Amino acid sequence: MGSGFSQCCQYVHLLKKPYRPSIISISQDTTSLIPDFNSNDDNINLCTSIFISHLLEEAENKLNSLDYDSSINILLRATQLGSVYAAIKLGSIYLNIFSDYNTSSAYYFIALKFILMIHHSSWDIDLILEIVCSLTKLYNILLSDPNNLDILNHGIKLMIKIDKNLQDPYIIRIFSYKQNQIRRASRIHINYCIAKTAESRGDLLEALKGFEECELIGLCGIKNADELIKKSYSHMQRLDSTRPKVNPICVQCNYEARDLLDIWNLLVCTKCKNVACCGRECLDKHMITTHLGRPY
Ligand SMILES: [Zn+2]
Ligand SMILES: [Zn+2]
Repeated sequence: MGSGFSQCCQYVHLLKKPYRPSIISISQDTTSLIPDFNSNDDNINLCTSIFISHLLEEAENKLNSLDYDSSINILLRATQLGSVYAAIKLGSIYLNIFSDYNTSSAYYFIALKFILMIHHSSWDIDLILEIVCSLTKLYNILLSDPNNLDILNHGIKLMIKIDKNLQDPYIIRIFSYKQNQIRRASRIHINYCIAKTAESRGDLLEALKGFEECELIGLCGIKNADELIKKSYSHMQRLDSTRPKVNPICVQCNYEARDLLDIWNLLVCTKCKNVACCGRECLDKHMITTHLGRPY
């Protein structure tokens, strides 16, 4: 970030007005700003926070007076200083005002990258839900064009990292009941995006796992997320209707497939068509003994 203390104070002076509480609250427990690293001087982070609060407030005023260019420019400055909130706001403007879905998702990805630079015990879970909720909308739109898959796969990698941190027992313990419900809603959105993206690139097993995970997380009392669980169930049923219609027992070693993922993993004999094997080794044995008439 490179914004030193003196540089920071210079900015504050440039604002030409005394500091007053901003509409953006920066609490002690959660943060929407990447701290300046390699510094034990809390004043540096505080100074940047105050400056960014002013920028966000100014950007909001410009947005309310429909001066989009100025608002975007101010938000870009705040984003350059590491403000998660500014990156989210830019994502939201490009999504809801300009319908520029690629640019919007790029800003939401920047927000996720910033969040991953903050220790997860300080994460603002409301902001995470806001991001993944918007990303669910964006993924639904952008996945219709296969050309977008590379960038969407990049976003999935970030979401997987976020999801991993959201399962840390430590944060589950320190979060309130409401925060945990928001945490679960965020995980549902993430796993839904993972599943939809996997299906788009033809990875049906991964898709099924993602939809299954949404069901496992379970209802959280947050409408959008709970609706995704219902959708996941329909997607699973649809995928299930395309699974191999064979007896789910390996014809060679009698291994019995226990669940849907197991059945997907069975290898169907292309000659018999109605039997399957648990893996390549059994299929080879079956081919040699049954169809080539040779001992294995
Ligand atoms: Zn077998
Ligand atoms: Zn066969």
